[in-house]
Amino acid sequence: MGGDISLVISVAEAIAQVLSDVVPLAAEEVGIAVARGRVLAREVVAGIDIPPFRNSQMDGFAVRSADLAGSSDAAPVRLRVVATIAAGDAPEGTVGSGEAIRIMTGGALPEGADAVVKVEDTSTDGSTVAVRHAPHPGEFVRPVGEDLRAGDRVLEVGRVLRPADIGLIASLGLPTVRVAVRPRVAVLATGDELVDLGRPLAPGRIYNSNAYTLAAAVEEVGGDAVVFGIVRDTRDALREAFAATRGFDAVLSTGGVSVGDFDFVKEVMDEQGLERRFWQVAQKPGKPITFAARDGRLYFGLPGNPVSSLVCFELYVAPALRRALGMKHVHAPTVEVVMERSVRTAKGLCELVRCTLRRDGDVLLASPTGTQSSGVLRSLSLADCLAISPPGIDELAAGSRVTALRIGPVHTPSPEHPFA
Ligand code: AMP
Ligand code: MG
Repeated sequence: MGGDISLVISVAEAIAQVLSDVVPLAAEEVGIAVARGRVLAREVVAGIDIPPFRNSQMDGFAVRSADLAGSSDAAPVRLRVVATIAAGDAPEGTVGSGEAIRIMTGGALPEGADAVVKVEDTSTDGSTVAVRHAPHPGEFVRPVGEDLRAGDRVLEVGRVLRPADIGLIASLGLPTVRVAVRPRVAVLATGDELVDLGRPLAPGRIYNSNAYTLAAAVEEVGGDAVVFGIVRDTRDALREAFAATRGFDAVLSTGGVSVGDFDFVKEVMDEQGLERRFWQVAQKPGKPITFAARDGRLYFGLPGNPVSSLVCFELYVAPALRRALGMKHVHAPTVEVVMERSVRTAKGLCELVRCTLRRDGDVLLASPTGTQSSGVLRSLSLADCLAISPPGIDELAAGSRVTALRIGPVHTPSPEHPFA
């Protein structure tokens, strides 16, 4: 970007700048029992066919379908039962003409057989079986490679592993997978007013909530957060804190980036030789945010207001961490909403309005969660989305269609299930 660092840039420019400074993380091998949620760093290719052998989908009888053409309830066909195959038995025996082999679900289909008749369609006296159904060739037979074929590209690089993915990898017999290392993120809360949790609150003081908000947000995107002790509003304290973050992939500080008399974060970042890319984005909340990079490390000087710092995290930090992890898609998902109530917004800034969502027929109705002050964290805790008011307008009018960023868990459990 270069140029004047005091320039107020747009949200889009800030996102582009941050992403352009991201460097991919290293990879490591982890056991699949702990791989859920990790990001695949090496493609998973099937080394074997799954299933590896033809097998039965039912408890029943392995048969030759040609023997049973025309068999029915009215005219059952009787076959000789020559063996029994359980799940796990090595494939053996052959079904000859006029014969059947008793077989369990998962049992290897014997040679000669091309179909399975389920127990419910048969009656047996042990040595013979009366079959009341004419199976088509292949009925209730799971062919070799029905699920995966050797050589299939099963899971691609950048995929966030889900339980079914873990099962696929396990079905191939692989005890480990290669995933991106979790980014190590240092969290520094700055401010003379801050008090550690569990300590008494003196007049004029507040608890340090941001550090824990951000650590949780880091964990949610798959990073590994380390919360540093509270950093006082002095140049020396900041210098010391920044110096202690060497070795981290990203550093998040909160507070001290505005124009207050004790806002030294920018100055100390510059002094440390970090290349500062921007300060001030035309957004609300979170206008005073500064971003710097050096040697592939990312430094986010987030605002101190609790809502501002978390909104900035969603807009800039989360995409950066996802990109570093190798994920293909990195931004918060959007939804189209209709405003249920009007809300005034800051002209000249991109305002992100905290709203709840409710479904009304085909539309999602968004309602502001109350005061939009950047100090009121509760209104973010209540929100399902951030409705976007672009810089040119000063109101999101009731009934207007608006794009919103989805926040919070993607799958919110429902109070009901849809089954009769
Ligand atoms: P600052 O950006 O340092 O001017 O702080 C802006 C506002 O955010 C002030 O009201 C601070 O008290 C508040 N604030 C700063 N840091 C934190 C924190 N770690 N936890 C909660 N509130 C904070
Ligand atoms: Mg401060």
